[in-house]
Amino acid sequence: MTTTAKAGHFRLYRVRLAGALLGMLAVFAVSPALAEELAIYAGKLFDSESGELLEDRTIHVADGRIESVQKGFARRDREQLVDLRDYTVLPGLMDMHTHLAYEYGPRTYMETFTWNDADYTLRAVDTARRTLEAGFTTVRDLGDHGNVTISLRNAIDSGTVPGPRIFTAGKSIATTGGHADPTNGYRHDLMGRPGPAEGVINGPIDAREAVRQRYKDGADVIKITATGGVLSVAKSGQNPQFMADELEAIVATAKDYGYTVAVHAHGKEGMDRAIRAGVDSIEHGTYMDGETMELMKRNGTWYVPTLVAGEWVTQKAALDGFFPEMVRAKAATIGPQIQKTFAEAYRRGVKIAFGTDSGVSRHGDNAREFNLMVAAGMTPADALRSATWNAADLLDMQDELGSVSAGRRADIIAVAGNPLEDISEMRRVRFVMKDGEVIVAAD
Ligand SMILES: [Zn+2]
Repeated sequence: MTTTAKAGHFRLYRVRLAGALLGMLAVFAVSPALAEELAIYAGKLFDSESGELLEDRTIHVADGRIESVQKGFARRDREQLVDLRDYTVLPGLMDMHTHLAYEYGPRTYMETFTWNDADYTLRAVDTARRTLEAGFTTVRDLGDHGNVTISLRNAIDSGTVPGPRIFTAGKSIATTGGHADPTNGYRHDLMGRPGPAEGVINGPIDAREAVRQRYKDGADVIKITATGGVLSVAKSGQNPQFMADELEAIVATAKDYGYTVAVHAHGKEGMDRAIRAGVDSIEHGTYMDGETMELMKRNGTWYVPTLVAGEWVTQKAALDGFFPEMVRAKAATIGPQIQKTFAEAYRRGVKIAFGTDSGVSRHGDNAREFNLMVAAGMTPADALRSATWNAADLLDMQDELGSVSAGRRADIIAVAGNPLEDISEMRRVRFVMKDGEVIVAAD
């Protein structure tokens, strides 16, 4: 992971710049919210590095960061108290695969023809708030419409609207007729010929242009669809859709700009080509076999399983008329397979980061993924680590995120029970803090 400078550094630069500007403004109008110091009493604290629960800790928070974590309960005079002695406190959760601009339903295919960018934006404002209130303080957005999540990210960073910290791919990149070709299934005269700016490439030259366009657009990460997918109106859900030279051009250009590359893939061949080209994460990974898993381990490739999306499409495939018939057939076969693949990948020790593909399933239900991970054999502690410490590792931001420890951003959540005994507690998050600001107060 050392050769990729990672999107996170760009974000940090922006955050620092915003901080400097705020500092200049503070000379004229001192904001009490920025200067606030807090002491959080945690009855139990999940240590995301070790996977263990610590007891009776005080978390000192100043200027949006965790200053220190100490044994016992002791508050300084200037600190305001947040009493979570009856709760289990954890790092803010991190979902490495969301689509905030989308929320799938029977009307989705019609929206393509009736919605404007503003409609997608307003939905994303709502889904971002729900995601944050469910305890997810950081997300990757792996494919939107009209780059609306780039604007949303900026609005959240500047405090205009509430939402998680977003690392966005903007519009994802496909090949003609591929999973993320935006005009798949259209009437011929409406199909047009979308190109690199719209996220459709053919050949290495286009691939470079598409990555550079995303840099110009302000994206944080590159997302490609290396094989067919379930919800696009196209026949195959798993055929390879990028050639090796196209993948190599994507990865080489992405590295020039400090980007990581996230890869949607169901079929083995497209997945193997992408891993060999040096991409950073495989999303879904449905038909990976033992050979692919070993290849991922050798290359240090992350696996982002999205089990909840598999469950959701399986359930909806049973309903008449919910999906177009072409989609329904794919959903019924691919959906049920993901959890089995995940169980084997976990057993073999593939690196796993939490991701839900929310936007397929409902935003705000992201924590359902934990139940499915544990049901497939993962320990609750490892499931929680996948959404904290591991996700921060994937983003190359372990010095900033993914742990309640000194120096990190004060992204902190709490649940009432013990999630190591009952993982479904994660679906009932009772307290949410992001950057030291209380979003949901415990009762
Ligand atoms: Zn997705």
